[in-house]
Amino acid sequence: MARQNKEAISVPEGAERILLHACCAPCSSAIVEWMLAHGLHPVVYYCNPNIYPLAEYTKRKEESKRHAVSLGLTWIDDDWAHAEWQACVRGLESEPERGGRCLRCFTMRLTATARKAVELGCDTFATTLASSRWKSLEQIEQAGRAAEAAVGGQARFWAQNWRKGGLQQRRIELLREHGFYNQQYCGCEYSQRQSVEDTETVALGQQPLQG
Ligand code: SF4
Repeated sequence: MARQNKEAISVPEGAERILLHACCAPCSSAIVEWMLAHGLHPVVYYCNPNIYPLAEYTKRKEESKRHAVSLGLTWIDDDWAHAEWQACVRGLESEPERGGRCLRCFTMRLTATARKAVELGCDTFATTLASSRWKSLEQIEQAGRAAEAAVGGQARFWAQNWRKGGLQQRRIELLREHGFYNQQYCGCEYSQRQSVEDTETVALGQQPLQG
């Protein structure tokens, strides 16, 4: 039987060594805190070739590293393979957030995470993407399952809604406590453009598409 807690988050049966894909420090903070409180010491993997430009990527990466290292966790990163990421989402540039481009983006990052998990001998991988209210949990789960299949099930995807169990509120508190850099757009150049358009829409007194 899976280890349960009353907060609607449970550790999957057999999960011992966790590779946690971290999209950024703010999204990681409450999840890492929860894992540590439940006896799990994840390896934190920063694999986000989607982020643009490089300066933004570096800023988020350094925050992620600062956070993980301050907790004594192993933190590793991947290359900024942005050209590869662009090739992966080609033809989907105009898709809205939560559309086909995002599913492909999640699948690319989580497949890399699954491969890294196998390489490191981790039995389970999870992602902090599933803590953001702007992202589709269904897409994240679909991407995680595809990643698990890509490694023949050698590492299992921990599909978890990380907004539950009070973690959404805790994320806000930790963001303030640590003074994390809090980005204003999802990550890629297309979401950056959307963010600018939304800001202009708000300035005109209209409702943004999201925000
Ligand atoms: S909006 Fe975010 S999730 Fe979607 S493709 Fe861009 S970086 Fe990836």
